[in-house]
Amino acid sequence: MPSMATGNNNNNNNQFVNRKNKIDQQRKSLPIASVEKRLVEEVRKNDTLIIVGETGSGKTTQLPQYLFNGGFCRDGGIIGITQPRRVAAVTVAKRVAEECGVELGQKVGYSIRFEDVTSMSTRIKYMTDGLLLREALLDPYLSRYSVIVVDEAHERTVQTDVLLGLLKDVQKKRSRSSNASNNDHVKSNNGALVKEENNGQTSSGFKQQLVKKLNPLKLIIMSASLDARGFSEYFSGAKAVHVQGRQFPVDILYTAQPETDCLDAALVTILQIHLDEGPGDILVFLSGQEEIESIESLVRENLKKLPEAKQKLLILPLFSSLPSEKQMKVFTPAAVGFRKVILATNIAETSVTIPGIKYVIDPGLVKVRSYSPDSGIESLIVVKTSKAQALQRSGRAGREGPGKCFRLYPESRFEGLDDSTVPEIKRCNLSNVILQLSALGVDDIIGFDFMEKPDRMAVIKSLELLYLLGALTDEKKLSDPIGHQMARLPLEPNDSKALILASQFGCLEEMLIVVSMLSVESIFYVPREKLEESRAVIKSFSSPDGDHLTLLNVYRACLEFLEKNKTENSNDKAEKNLRRWCKDNFINNRSLKHARDIYKQIRENVERMGLKISSCGDDTLQLRRCLAASYFLNAALKQPDGTFRVLANGQIAEVHPTSVLRRTKSECIIFYNLVQTTRNYVRNVTRIDYLWLAELAPQCYALKD
Ligand code: ADP
Ligand code: MG
Repeated sequence: MPSMATGNNNNNNNQFVNRKNKIDQQRKSLPIASVEKRLVEEVRKNDTLIIVGETGSGKTTQLPQYLFNGGFCRDGGIIGITQPRRVAAVTVAKRVAEECGVELGQKVGYSIRFEDVTSMSTRIKYMTDGLLLREALLDPYLSRYSVIVVDEAHERTVQTDVLLGLLKDVQKKRSRSSNASNNDHVKSNNGALVKEENNGQTSSGFKQQLVKKLNPLKLIIMSASLDARGFSEYFSGAKAVHVQGRQFPVDILYTAQPETDCLDAALVTILQIHLDEGPGDILVFLSGQEEIESIESLVRENLKKLPEAKQKLLILPLFSSLPSEKQMKVFTPAAVGFRKVILATNIAETSVTIPGIKYVIDPGLVKVRSYSPDSGIESLIVVKTSKAQALQRSGRAGREGPGKCFRLYPESRFEGLDDSTVPEIKRCNLSNVILQLSALGVDDIIGFDFMEKPDRMAVIKSLELLYLLGALTDEKKLSDPIGHQMARLPLEPNDSKALILASQFGCLEEMLIVVSMLSVESIFYVPREKLEESRAVIKSFSSPDGDHLTLLNVYRACLEFLEKNKTENSNDKAEKNLRRWCKDNFINNRSLKHARDIYKQIRENVERMGLKISSCGDDTLQLRRCLAASYFLNAALKQPDGTFRVLANGQIAEVHPTSVLRRTKSECIIFYNLVQTTRNYVRNVTRIDYLWLAELAPQCYALKD
C-alpha cells in the first residue's frame, strides 16, 4: 500500500484510488469473474468440488475471495489454499492482499516452511502443501479451516498426493464429528480435545464442558489440466466444474537441428526477439537457479555490446530461493520503451501468471527428482518435458493477444514426448512421506489410499532407509525419541538425523550451519569468464577435508564480517557491506541470506526439542565423524582409475568439478547429492575414514577379516 503520510496527500490518495480502480477492472475482466455466483453456489452444494480452468483464468487469486465474500469464513473458519511451490504461495498472497486492500499478514497471509506471515485475523491463507501436512500433525482435524483448496493438483507433486489422501480422511472424520451430538467429545488421534470451550456456565450454576461442533470440511481441487476424471474418480465421483479460459493463437517455431548448447541457443533467441520482434515481454523456461544466473550474466554482457538505444531490456530472474521483493518485480510492467525478459524455472508454467508475455522460449527441459529403488539414492535430473508441459508453456504467450513460442528443439522431438508427466510419487524417495504419515498415525503406507500407489519396491527401500537411520522400530512404528524427533523437523530424514546425532557428537552448532548451507542451491556464484580468478578467491575458504567444512568456513567468515562491521556501523549498513563482500568473494548473496534464515529456523526447532547445542570449535574431526554416521548410505570408495564407487549400489561417479575435493587423493568420501547429467557426479563431498563406517554405521557395514 502506498504511504499516505507524505505532504502531498491528495495526490497520493488519487494514485491509490486509480490503482484500486485498475485492479478492480482487471479482476472483473478475468474469465472466472463471470461464474462467481455459480462457483460459490457449487461449493455450498458440494463438499468436494473439482475446478478445472486454464492457467491465468483467475482460479488462484479469485476463488478464495469469492468464497470469503460468500460467507465461508463466517464462523471464524479459514480458507486455506495450498500450492506446490513457495514462490506461488508468496506472490499470490501479496497480490490478493493488494486486491483486497489489506496489509499482508492480516486478512490475507501466507505460510511456507521457515516463514509465517499470518495472524489471528488471517482468513485467506496461502501455503505450501507440505506446510499443511505439518499442521495436520498438530491439528489432525484441521479444525481451523472451513475450506481447503488444493491448487495446482495437476502437478501431482508427492506432497499434493499425500495431502489429497489425508484430506479425504479428515473430511470423513469431520463429517462424522459434525453429526455427533454436542456433548460428544471429539477426540483426535492422540486423544487431545479438538476444540474446547470452557465458558458454558449454565443458569443453574453447573459448569458444563461444551465441545464445538466442527462443520464439514469443504474441499476444492483445482487443476489446470483439462482432464478432471482422475480426481473425480478418486473423490467418489465428485463434481467437476470447468472455467472457460481465453486463449489467443500462438505461433510455434522449432529449430531445424537439435541444439547442443541450450544456454547458448536460449541466449541467441532472446537477443533475436529483442532486436527483431515487435513489443511484448519474453518468458524463458530454465531448469534451475544456476542456469538462470548464467543466462542472466550472458545476456547482460551481450547487451553491453549493443548500441545504447537497443539496451532497453530488463532482465528478471524468478526462482524459488529468490528474496520475495525480487520475485514480485516480474509482475511490474517495464518502463515505456523497455522490454522485460523473465528467466524462470518451471514455476511460470502454471503456478504464476505474469502479465504482458508475448514470447516464450522453451528449451524443452525440466529438472525433476528421480529415484531408483535398486540404488536407494535419489538424484536430481534434467529431463525432457511432457507434451502437456510444452503446451502449457507455449500457452503463456497467448494470454493477452497472439504470441510466439520458440521451442529450442526440432519438431520431430515434440512428437516423441510423453503425453503427460509421471506423478512424483512414482519417482522419489518415499522416506519423508513415510515419516510424515507415521507421525499422523498411518503405519501401513502400502494400504494408504493414494490416488496412485507408489512402487512397492520404492516403499520397501524407503522403509529400509528409515530403519537404518533408527527412525522406525521392528514393528514399523516411529521410534522413541529418534523417529518422533525426525518427524518434527522440517527436513529430509538424513538431515534430521545428522542434527540429532550432532548433539551427541558435540557439534550441533556446526551441523546446523552445514545443513542450512546445504539446503540452498549454490553458495558460490562463478561467472563463466571469471573461473580462474574465482578459484583463487574461493580457495581461501576451502578446507582440505571437503565441501561441508568449506561451507562452514564461508558461514563463519560471514558471521565474522558482520560482527566486525556491526561495531562501526548500523545493522543495515553491515548487511549492505555484506553484499559487497559476497560479490568480492564469489558468494551468492541471496543463497547465503536464505541459508542464514534457514539456520535461525532450524536452530529454534532443535532448541524447542531440547537438543543440546554445543560447538566443536576447530576440532572438525567430530563433525566429519558425525557426517559419516548420518550420511553413511552416501559413502563411496575410490577406484584405481580415480572415479568413485558408491558402496550402497555399486554406481560409479566422479566428484563434481565445483567440489574442493575434485582432485582428492582420499580413499573414502561421503557425498550429499548425486547429479546425473551426461555423467554421474557427486556433489558436496567430504573425506572420511572408511573404518568409521563399520564403527558408526554397523547396521549397514561390516569389515571383512
Ligand atoms: P490461475 O490460477 O487461474 O492460473 P491467477 O489467479 O493466478 O490464475 O491469475 C489471474 C490474473 O491475475 C492473471 O491475469 C495474472 O496476470 C494476474 N496476477 C496474478 N498475480 C499477480 C501479481 N502479483 N501482479 C499482477 N498481476 C497478477
Ligand atoms: Mg493458479
